[in-house]
Amino acid sequence: MQIAGLVKNSFVDYPGLIAAVVFVPGCNMDCWYCHNRALWKAESLLDMAEVMRFLEKRRAFLDGVVISGGEPTLQAGLVQFIRGVKAMGYRVKLDTNGLKPDAVAGLLPDIDYIAMDLKAPPGEIHRVVSFGLDDAPVWQCADLLISGEVDYEFRTTFMPTLDVADIEAIAQRVKGARRYVIQQYRKPDSRTLSPEPHGKETIKNAAEAAAKYVRDVAVRGI
Ligand code: SF4
Repeated sequence: MQIAGLVKNSFVDYPGLIAAVVFVPGCNMDCWYCHNRALWKAESLLDMAEVMRFLEKRRAFLDGVVISGGEPTLQAGLVQFIRGVKAMGYRVKLDTNGLKPDAVAGLLPDIDYIAMDLKAPPGEIHRVVSFGLDDAPVWQCADLLISGEVDYEFRTTFMPTLDVADIEAIAQRVKGARRYVIQQYRKPDSRTLSPEPHGKETIKNAAEAAAKYVRDVAVRGI
Protein backbone atom coordinates (compact mmCIF):
# COMPACT_ATOMS: atom_id res chain seq x y z
CA MET A 1 0.00 0.00 0.00
CA GLN A 2 1.18 3.53 -0.75
CA ILE A 3 1.00 6.35 1.79
CA ALA A 4 1.37 9.92 0.60
CA GLY A 5 0.66 11.79 3.82
CA LEU A 6 0.39 11.37 7.58
CA VAL A 7 -1.31 13.46 10.26
CA LYS A 8 0.31 12.33 13.47
CA ASN A 9 -2.63 13.03 15.74
CA SER A 10 -6.14 14.20 15.10
CA PHE A 11 -9.06 14.79 17.45
CA VAL A 12 -11.62 15.23 14.67
CA ASP A 13 -11.17 12.45 12.13
CA TYR A 14 -12.29 9.45 14.19
CA PRO A 15 -15.38 10.17 16.30
CA GLY A 16 -14.50 9.86 19.97
CA LEU A 17 -10.90 8.78 19.45
CA ILE A 18 -7.48 10.34 19.05
CA ALA A 19 -6.16 9.01 15.78
CA ALA A 20 -3.37 9.18 13.28
CA VAL A 21 -4.55 9.74 9.71
CA VAL A 22 -2.82 8.22 6.69
CA PHE A 23 -3.58 9.53 3.23
CA VAL A 24 -3.24 7.30 0.20
CA PRO A 25 -2.65 8.63 -3.32
CA GLY A 26 -5.05 8.20 -6.24
CA CYS A 27 -8.80 8.57 -6.59
CA ASN A 28 -11.53 7.29 -8.92
CA MET A 29 -13.61 10.45 -8.58
CA ASP A 30 -12.87 14.06 -9.40
CA CYS A 31 -15.01 16.08 -7.05
CA TRP A 32 -15.31 19.69 -7.90
CA TYR A 33 -14.43 20.78 -4.38
CA CYS A 34 -11.62 18.29 -3.70
CA HIS A 35 -9.01 19.63 -1.29
CA ASN A 36 -6.73 16.65 -1.76
CA ARG A 37 -5.85 16.98 -5.44
CA ALA A 38 -2.18 17.00 -4.58
CA LEU A 39 -2.64 13.41 -3.47
CA TRP A 40 -3.99 12.14 -6.77
CA LYS A 41 -0.57 11.87 -8.30
CA ALA A 42 1.62 11.85 -5.23
CA GLU A 43 5.15 12.28 -6.40
CA SER A 44 6.72 11.49 -3.07
CA LEU A 45 5.53 8.68 -0.88
CA LEU A 46 6.27 8.01 2.74
CA ASP A 47 8.34 5.04 3.70
CA MET A 48 5.91 2.37 4.90
CA ALA A 49 8.38 0.92 7.41
CA GLU A 50 8.77 4.37 8.97
CA VAL A 51 5.01 4.84 9.19
CA MET A 52 4.67 1.47 10.92
CA ARG A 53 7.51 2.33 13.31
CA PHE A 54 5.78 5.61 14.14
CA LEU A 55 2.48 3.84 14.83
CA GLU A 56 4.22 1.24 16.94
CA LYS A 57 5.86 3.96 19.04
CA ARG A 58 2.61 5.91 19.50
CA ARG A 59 0.45 3.03 20.65
CA ALA A 60 0.14 4.44 24.16
CA PHE A 61 -1.00 7.87 22.94
CA LEU A 62 -3.28 7.10 20.01
CA ASP A 63 -6.46 5.05 19.88
CA GLY A 64 -7.09 4.74 16.19
CA VAL A 65 -5.82 4.96 12.65
CA VAL A 66 -7.88 6.60 9.91
CA ILE A 67 -7.20 5.56 6.33
CA SER A 68 -8.19 8.38 4.01
CA GLY A 69 -7.20 9.77 0.66
CA GLY A 70 -7.59 9.79 -2.23
CA GLU A 71 -9.59 6.58 -2.29
CA PRO A 72 -8.17 3.83 -0.08
CA THR A 73 -10.07 0.95 -1.73
CA LEU A 74 -7.91 1.39 -4.86
CA GLN A 75 -4.82 0.41 -2.91
CA ALA A 76 -3.28 -3.03 -3.20
CA GLY A 77 -2.22 -4.26 0.21
CA LEU A 78 -4.88 -2.29 2.07
CA VAL A 79 -6.17 -5.24 4.10
CA GLN A 80 -2.63 -6.22 5.09
CA PHE A 81 -2.00 -2.68 6.30
CA ILE A 82 -5.26 -2.70 8.28
CA ARG A 83 -4.40 -6.02 9.90
CA GLY A 84 -0.93 -4.75 10.73
CA VAL A 85 -2.18 -1.70 12.60
CA LYS A 86 -4.95 -3.67 14.27
CA ALA A 87 -2.34 -6.09 15.55
CA MET A 88 -0.80 -3.08 17.35
CA GLY A 89 -4.12 -2.56 19.13
CA TYR A 90 -5.50 0.28 17.03
CA ARG A 91 -9.07 0.72 15.98
CA VAL A 92 -9.33 1.40 12.26
CA LYS A 93 -11.59 3.80 10.40
CA LEU A 94 -11.88 3.79 6.61
CA ASP A 95 -12.92 6.84 4.59
CA THR A 96 -14.38 5.88 1.21
CA ASN A 97 -16.38 7.33 -1.64
CA GLY A 98 -18.24 4.02 -1.93
CA LEU A 99 -17.50 3.44 -5.59
CA LYS A 100 -16.05 -0.01 -4.91
CA PRO A 101 -18.65 -1.85 -2.83
CA ASP A 102 -17.03 -5.25 -3.37
CA ALA A 103 -13.77 -3.98 -1.94
CA VAL A 104 -15.59 -2.46 1.04
CA ALA A 105 -17.48 -5.73 1.60
CA GLY A 106 -14.18 -7.60 1.74
CA LEU A 107 -12.75 -5.16 4.29
CA LEU A 108 -15.72 -5.09 6.68
CA PRO A 109 -14.47 -7.90 8.96
CA ASP A 110 -11.29 -5.89 9.63
CA ILE A 111 -12.75 -2.38 9.99
CA ASP A 112 -14.19 -0.70 13.10
CA TYR A 113 -15.77 2.37 11.52
CA ILE A 114 -16.52 3.56 7.99
CA ALA A 115 -17.21 7.10 6.82
CA MET A 116 -18.76 6.98 3.38
CA ASP A 117 -19.48 9.94 1.13
CA LEU A 118 -22.86 10.45 -0.46
CA LYS A 119 -21.96 13.14 -2.94
CA ALA A 120 -25.38 13.91 -4.41
CA PRO A 121 -28.89 12.46 -4.72
CA PRO A 122 -29.27 9.23 -6.76
CA GLY A 123 -28.45 9.80 -10.42
CA GLU A 124 -27.08 13.29 -9.75
CA ILE A 125 -23.42 12.64 -9.04
CA HIS A 126 -22.46 14.48 -12.25
CA ARG A 127 -23.26 17.67 -10.35
CA VAL A 128 -20.28 17.04 -8.07
CA VAL A 129 -17.87 14.86 -10.05
CA SER A 130 -16.41 16.26 -13.24
CA PHE A 131 -16.80 13.19 -15.44
CA GLY A 132 -19.72 10.89 -16.23
CA LEU A 133 -20.10 8.26 -13.55
CA ASP A 134 -22.65 5.56 -12.79
CA ASP A 135 -23.45 6.05 -9.11
CA ALA A 136 -25.24 2.68 -8.73
CA PRO A 137 -22.21 1.13 -6.95
CA VAL A 138 -22.28 3.96 -4.40
CA TRP A 139 -25.84 3.13 -3.38
CA GLN A 140 -25.01 -0.56 -3.37
CA CYS A 141 -22.23 0.24 -0.92
CA ALA A 142 -24.59 2.37 1.18
CA ASP A 143 -27.09 -0.52 1.37
CA LEU A 144 -24.26 -2.83 2.39
CA LEU A 145 -23.44 -0.61 5.37
CA ILE A 146 -27.06 -0.10 6.37
CA SER A 147 -27.68 -3.83 6.51
CA GLY A 148 -24.32 -4.65 8.13
CA GLU A 149 -22.91 -4.69 11.64
CA VAL A 150 -19.94 -2.32 11.32
CA ASP A 151 -20.44 1.17 12.71
CA TYR A 152 -20.56 3.85 10.04
CA GLU A 153 -21.61 7.31 9.03
CA PHE A 154 -22.72 8.72 5.72
CA ARG A 155 -21.61 12.23 4.94
CA THR A 156 -22.33 14.86 2.33
CA THR A 157 -20.36 17.99 1.64
CA PHE A 158 -23.12 20.57 1.22
CA MET A 159 -21.88 22.20 -1.98
CA PRO A 160 -23.54 25.50 -2.85
CA THR A 161 -24.94 23.82 -5.97
CA LEU A 162 -26.87 21.35 -3.80
CA ASP A 163 -29.93 22.59 -1.96
CA VAL A 164 -32.05 21.49 1.00
CA ALA A 165 -34.21 19.28 -1.24
CA ASP A 166 -31.07 17.49 -2.45
CA ILE A 167 -29.97 16.77 1.12
CA GLU A 168 -33.44 15.50 1.90
CA ALA A 169 -33.38 13.24 -1.18
CA ILE A 170 -30.04 11.77 -0.09
CA ALA A 171 -31.28 11.15 3.46
CA GLN A 172 -34.49 9.63 2.11
CA ARG A 173 -32.48 7.21 -0.02
CA VAL A 174 -30.64 5.97 3.10
CA LYS A 175 -33.71 6.04 5.33
CA GLY A 176 -33.04 4.26 8.61
CA ALA A 177 -29.27 4.79 8.44
CA ARG A 178 -27.43 5.12 11.74
CA ARG A 179 -25.79 8.48 11.17
CA TYR A 180 -25.74 11.19 8.52
CA VAL A 181 -23.31 14.09 8.63
CA ILE A 182 -23.71 17.29 6.64
CA GLN A 183 -20.31 18.87 6.13
CA GLN A 184 -19.92 22.54 5.41
CA TYR A 185 -18.35 23.23 2.03
CA ARG A 186 -14.99 24.98 1.98
CA LYS A 187 -13.85 26.73 -1.16
CA PRO A 188 -10.89 24.99 -2.76
CA ASP A 189 -7.93 27.40 -2.75
CA SER A 190 -7.37 26.89 -6.45
CA ARG A 191 -10.93 27.85 -7.43
CA THR A 192 -11.34 31.39 -6.28
CA LEU A 193 -14.43 31.95 -8.39
CA SER A 194 -16.34 29.16 -6.72
CA PRO A 195 -19.67 30.05 -5.09
CA GLU A 196 -20.00 30.94 -1.43
CA PRO A 197 -20.91 28.25 1.11
CA HIS A 198 -24.47 27.97 2.36
CA GLY A 199 -25.33 30.02 5.45
CA LYS A 200 -26.10 28.51 8.84
CA GLU A 201 -29.87 28.80 8.41
CA THR A 202 -29.84 26.76 5.20
CA ILE A 203 -27.63 24.13 6.80
CA LYS A 204 -29.98 23.96 9.78
CA ASN A 205 -32.93 23.50 7.42
CA ALA A 206 -31.06 20.74 5.59
CA ALA A 207 -30.32 18.97 8.88
CA GLU A 208 -33.99 19.16 9.86
CA ALA A 209 -35.02 17.75 6.48
CA ALA A 210 -32.54 14.89 6.79
CA ALA A 211 -33.70 14.11 10.33
CA LYS A 212 -37.05 12.98 8.93
CA TYR A 213 -35.25 9.88 7.64
CA VAL A 214 -32.10 9.39 9.73
CA ARG A 215 -32.21 9.37 13.51
CA ASP A 216 -28.72 10.79 14.12
CA VAL A 217 -27.96 13.83 11.95
CA ALA A 218 -24.92 15.99 12.63
CA VAL A 219 -23.39 19.07 11.05
CA ARG A 220 -19.65 19.62 10.78
CA GLY A 221 -17.58 22.61 9.84
CA ILE A 222 -19.75 25.57 10.80
S1 SF4 B 1 -13.63 11.30 -3.52
FE1 SF4 B 1 -12.48 12.56 -2.04
S2 SF4 B 1 -10.32 12.45 -2.71
FE2 SF4 B 1 -11.58 11.74 -4.42
S3 SF4 B 1 -11.89 13.55 -5.68
FE3 SF4 B 1 -13.65 13.39 -4.28
S4 SF4 B 1 -13.11 14.67 -2.51
FE4 SF4 B 1 -11.20 14.28 -3.67
